[in-house]
This record gives sequence, structure tokens and C-alpha cells, in this order.
Amino acid sequence: MSDSEDHSDPNHSHLSDTDLRVRSLESLLLDKGMVDAAALEALIQNYEHKVGPQNGARVVARAWSDPAYKEWLLRDATAAIADMGYHGRQGEYMYVVENTAAVHNLVVCTLCSCYPWPVLGLPPTWYKSAPYRSRAVMDPRGVLREFGTEVGEDVAVRVWDSTAELRYLVLPEQPEGTEGMSQDELAALVGRNAMIGVEKVAAS
Ligand code: FE
Repeated sequence: MSDSEDHSDPNHSHLSDTDLRVRSLESLLLDKGMVDAAALEALIQNYEHKVGPQNGARVVARAWSDPAYKEWLLRDATAAIADMGYHGRQGEYMYVVENTAAVHNLVVCTLCSCYPWPVLGLPPTWYKSAPYRSRAVMDPRGVLREFGTEVGEDVAVRVWDSTAELRYLVLPEQPEGTEGMSQDELAALVGRNAMIGVEKVAAS
């Protein structure tokens, strides 16, 4: 991004106030030499291309394949996830909640948009929206239904409210018929929404 953008340019008139404010701050920080343009670009590239739900999917696939790793993950998620090379900002303290036949877990940040970046990347727009943040706690089964996720009345639904300090990752149930798959094959089945808890993992 250029550090000398003209904000009066009519081509930028479609930008929201927030976008304009961010661009202004970025320009100022670059102009004053407080931020290095190359470092900023590397950070953006990292979160756009390298860090994402494929990381969390590898954690899930390993837990499904290796009971000792799963036990470690549920006991000390921060360390077990760091063992895969995923750690750092917005993931300093991780907690993994396991979906079972008796319990379905759902993650939200009611206050804002706290999310485990090292394993899931940046949060989707709906995760940050006020309706999701309020309804996930008031009517979690209704939210799940809207994602096409049926959870039986005999299954407890637990909602976990993320904070700036503690971030949650759902360990989804392994679908039946996938027991012989490799970790790479298993990871390919696991999507972002299943690790937030709004969906289940399908066998294909
Ligand atoms: Fe938040």
C-alpha cells in the first residue's frame, strides 16, 4: 500500500469511516518512521496466506490419529498446539473443548471478536457481528440450526466466551468411516466452522 495516498481522491469515497481512519493512521505511522512498510506487508501476507484454518485442521487431525496427543491437547492446548509450530499473537493461551456424543461446544466472543489467530487465521465477518455475538449465548441451538447443524435435545450445548487472554478451539467429533485415513486426508475434511463449533465435520 502506498504511504502517500490522497484521501480526498473521489475513488476512495466508498471507504467507510473506519477504513479511512485506519489508512490515515497507517500513513502517519509510516511517515513518522514508526512502522516499516516491508514489515507491515509481511505481516499482512502472513495472515492472508500462511496462517489460517488449515493449521487448526492439522491439530484436529493429529488429535484424532494419536490418543496421547489428544490427551495433551485437552490438558495443555497452548503447549500441544505450539508443538505443531502454531503460537504467537492472539493465541498465547489456548483451550481446546472436545465435542462428543453428549456435548456440543460453540465458541463466541460476546465482547468483540477474540479468536485464535495462529490456528484459525482471521475471524469471519459473521463471527464479529452483533447478532452472532448475542444470539450464540441467548439461543445457541437456533444459531446452530441456521448453520444447518442439528444437535439432539439429549446433547448438551456449551458456549465458550473468548477473551483477550484465552482463546478456544473446538475439537470436533471424528466422522464415522474415516478411521483409516491419513492425517493429511483427515485435515482436509476439517473446516473453520467446525472448529468454531457452528458445524460438524462430514466424512467427505
Ligand atoms: Fe473479543
